[in-house]
Amino acid sequence: MEEKKFEGKSKITLAIDHIHCGDCALNIERSVEHVPGVLSAEVSYVLSSATVYYDPHRVGEEQIKKAITKPGYAIKETLAERTRTFWKERRSFIFLCLSGATLGLSWIFGWIGLAPRHLPNTLAVVSLILGGYPIVKSAIKTLLIPDLNVDTLVSIAAVSAAAVGAYQEAATVIFVMLLGEFLEGLTVGKTRKAIASLIQLSPKTAWVRREGNEVQVPIEDVKPREVVIVKPGERIPVDGKIISGCASINQSTLTGESIPVEKEVGDKIYCGTFNESGSCEIEATQVAEDTKLAQIKRLILEAQTQKSPTQRVMDRFSRYFIPAIILIALATFLVTGEIVRGITILIVACPCALVLGTPTAVVAAIGNAARQGILIKGGAYLEQMGRVKTLLMDKTGTLTYGRPRVVEIKIFNGMDEKELLYWAAMAEKRSEHPLARAITEKADEFGLNIPHPQAFENFRGKGVKAQQNSRSVIVGSSEMMRSEGVEIPEWARRFSESKQLEGMTSLFITLDRQISGIIFISDTVREGAKEVIDRIRKEGLAEIWMLTGDSDQVANRIGRELGIRYEAKLLPEEKVMRVKEWKRKGQVVAMVGDGINDAPALAAADIGIAMGAVGTDVATETADIALMADELEKIPTLIRLSRKALQVIKQNLIFALAFNTVLVLLSTQGWVTMILGAIMHQASSLLVIFNSMRLLRRT
Ligand code: ADP
Ligand code: MG
Repeated sequence: MEEKKFEGKSKITLAIDHIHCGDCALNIERSVEHVPGVLSAEVSYVLSSATVYYDPHRVGEEQIKKAITKPGYAIKETLAERTRTFWKERRSFIFLCLSGATLGLSWIFGWIGLAPRHLPNTLAVVSLILGGYPIVKSAIKTLLIPDLNVDTLVSIAAVSAAAVGAYQEAATVIFVMLLGEFLEGLTVGKTRKAIASLIQLSPKTAWVRREGNEVQVPIEDVKPREVVIVKPGERIPVDGKIISGCASINQSTLTGESIPVEKEVGDKIYCGTFNESGSCEIEATQVAEDTKLAQIKRLILEAQTQKSPTQRVMDRFSRYFIPAIILIALATFLVTGEIVRGITILIVACPCALVLGTPTAVVAAIGNAARQGILIKGGAYLEQMGRVKTLLMDKTGTLTYGRPRVVEIKIFNGMDEKELLYWAAMAEKRSEHPLARAITEKADEFGLNIPHPQAFENFRGKGVKAQQNSRSVIVGSSEMMRSEGVEIPEWARRFSESKQLEGMTSLFITLDRQISGIIFISDTVREGAKEVIDRIRKEGLAEIWMLTGDSDQVANRIGRELGIRYEAKLLPEEKVMRVKEWKRKGQVVAMVGDGINDAPALAAADIGIAMGAVGTDVATETADIALMADELEKIPTLIRLSRKALQVIKQNLIFALAFNTVLVLLSTQGWVTMILGAIMHQASSLLVIFNSMRLLRRT
């Protein structure tokens, strides 16, 4: 059970016992939404959980729980209740077996015809009661809400069949329904487990140093700032920073990349990742529910309960579907005078497959993506991603490694390199831009001791301005110089342009408004970036563009190298405008960036994709899709998977609709028997689930 509060709106997530079909989830949802003060509720059949948003001033948790238990569902809260669940699940299985056994005997005695005349029917009635009791109970409880559900249809069918003396048929229909539900539960349970295994990776205990001794304590007892000892072949129990030793860490559980990363003193290390070799001591920074792993786990669960637009439409549709079916069945009965036809319609028309089609696909696809280090924040984003036609990519940190280095320093007025670097690094000290880091790192290399600026101003996408000891320094692009009214001598401009043609970014430095030098910085294009772009193009994306704040020359060089078109010299707000322009052309637009510098553009796009999100909380929280690893290769994988998911959803819906319609039509003609109808109906639900399961496979 988890709870989170934001202004005027609270959220609660509850694990619910044994929601036995997609339609039940809808039932709970409606029941909860009827409660005044509840803003919205999302219940997932696949995950057996409910997320409820409510106004804490108007309604309490207890009332919400009551609304869930009212239609006959239980909330899993304590261990005792979970054990009881175990019996409940077994109980339904036992009832299924008993109902099946009595039904089997009933048919056998009927065929051999030796037994007393009433025995087959008596056995069928016993089977009917054993199997039908939970269904009828659920139907009555739903009726009290008041509402109708699939159980209502099946109950009416069974009761009317029994009323006309077709006991064996009625019992068989009920048995087939129960058996189908049981099989569905098994397959869906498998998905649930596949996802759970992903997120149950944190170890149970940790070795910590306390009063000079190494002691093993349960993971809940580790406190932030404590020193945790990690040995080779162990999973990391907390998030922290290495304070001594080094290790080769396999981060595949978080990022999906299986090549171990070498970590040394000062590096961040994450809970749930695996130490392949080496040992180290770490200072815990986040423990238990605050770790990255726990955060990701929460996000995945939330993502999977969140309904996609298609699912919403289907759910609404099925609300009107059920009363319509009752009317059609009644009409058929009145016109033909054959009650069996009416009953068959009730059975075959249940919209089960239709309701299951989307959520099973969404959960499978999101689960698969998560295993590969791709965090999709909800079904809506998955579907949108499947429709993406335009892909916009940032340059720095996306197409390049984003680890630029100073490669050359050009000085103009008798100053030496060290002095120029000193002033530039002072100005950049408070900036978090990758270019700023390149400059401060270079200054470190020179062994310079850089003071903090007394005044500092950051111009996004242009440069920085700072003051120290009454000297003013500006570092930035030619654009920055123009907007600051600093004249760049012609020969300096030409020199800088010739370097830019080689793909170097040039930053001008002024001291007291006089150009004093240029620092040339180079960032390497990611290895394999070209292949990735080619693969993306092969997926059939209409437009792939690089958006950058860098100069035309640099953009041109990289654009040509990768074979993509570009727009250069864009300020952050201009990137946002470009994104919006693409959207206005009516295409679904995805923007890829590092999630920090480009946050506004990511937010403006239909889908914002952040790279390398494992290291930054902002990126994981704000992006619609977060690639945990800093790997461009995940983008074609993401595109393929989401398109496949969209396809599977479409297949499921078309199949379910067509199959249902054909069966209903055949039933109105009296060409389908009650039992065959029940079998076909359950088979269609299973087929839909199996089709969705395909999305669990790696693409
Ligand atoms: P990109 O689109 O490549 O991510 P940005 O929009 O972050 O680039 O920056 C665009 C340009 O602005 C850079 O190429 C650089 O010339 C200048 N710039 C941005 N921030 C800084 C800074 N902190 N120091 C110096 N120049 C900067
Ligand atoms: Mg950037």
